[in-house]
Amino acid sequence: MDPGIVCFQHCGPKVFCFSLPESCPVCKADLSEANFSLLPFRVPYPFVRASQYPCAVVIKPTSGDFLNDYYNSMDLHIGVTTSTGTIVEFDKNGLRRHRNGQWGQCLLLDQATSPWREHWDNTLLQVCKQKCWFARNYNEERHNCYTFVLTFLRTLDYGNLSKAASSRTIFCEKFIVPRTTSAGKYISLYRKLKDSGFCVHKTACK
Ligand SMILES: [Zn+2]
Ligand SMILES: [Zn+2]
Repeated sequence: MDPGIVCFQHCGPKVFCFSLPESCPVCKADLSEANFSLLPFRVPYPFVRASQYPCAVVIKPTSGDFLNDYYNSMDLHIGVTTSTGTIVEFDKNGLRRHRNGQWGQCLLLDQATSPWREHWDNTLLQVCKQKCWFARNYNEERHNCYTFVLTFLRTLDYGNLSKAASSRTIFCEKFIVPRTTSAGKYISLYRKLKDSGFCVHKTACK
């Protein structure tokens, strides 16, 4: 899952790679006896396995995964997890509850604190019982996964998360764009490394 991107600095620029090379790609010095100006460290992997995050709101690409298939926020699919990590999602097949591996690489938008867990599960159950989540009600534009999750969040009345859920635009701006933007940096780095093995950043980068 985590491809394990490593970052180090030897003679100046930051170097990113999947595993430490024998020699520095910048100055060619032997790295086994080198003095690093920044010791090699693992770049934090931004994605999570949804089932490990109870009472959470999560997104993933509608098809495929972030690292290989994600291009823009237009094709993101959103779901929530219960207090036991079961995924609940609404799509063209209707409402589904499951624990399958399709949500193994997603972004965590927010997670309720433990005192909220019972209220979270009860509210979710209540929203799931509404008659508008059958497959025949699904509409890609107007009645989709966002409709379900935002309806749930508004009913939940959980601080800023529920406030932002009043409109899809506000919700995207506050909760989705910041996550996809920072994950986007990791994704493009991963794809560069897959093509060329390492990547050198001449200017300082985060
Ligand atoms: Zn070097
Ligand atoms: Zn969707």
